[in-house]
Amino acid sequence: MENKTKRKRPDMIGNKNTLGLKHTEEWKEEAKKRMTGSKNHLWKGNKVGYVGLHHWLYRWLGKANHCEVCGKNDKRMYHWCNIDHQYRRVLDDYIPMCVPCHRKYDYSKFKK
Ligand SMILES: [Zn+2]
Repeated sequence: MENKTKRKRPDMIGNKNTLGLKHTEEWKEEAKKRMTGSKNHLWKGNKVGYVGLHHWLYRWLGKANHCEVCGKNDKRMYHWCNIDHQYRRVLDDYIPMCVPCHRKYDYSKFKK
């Protein structure tokens, strides 16, 4: 009986370790997903900064109403695109872009 109790303790510790490992592996998997889907992740991350920045941009530049890249101005939505992705509050660092061009621009930037 005594032996059994004694043996149970390392087992419990073992279980704890396994659980810890499982968690770590899940976390790794999650991290891997984030790495492969880095575009989505980055977009999500940028959005947080976008909100405050966009208020600031609208205040100084107004609404983006055309695309500096493809020259269109008949679409519904245009973004202010940050040229160097530093998201500094420098007006010269922002150019109006349509959503597809902005996405392409960001994608080519983040890919490197
Ligand atoms: Zn465009």
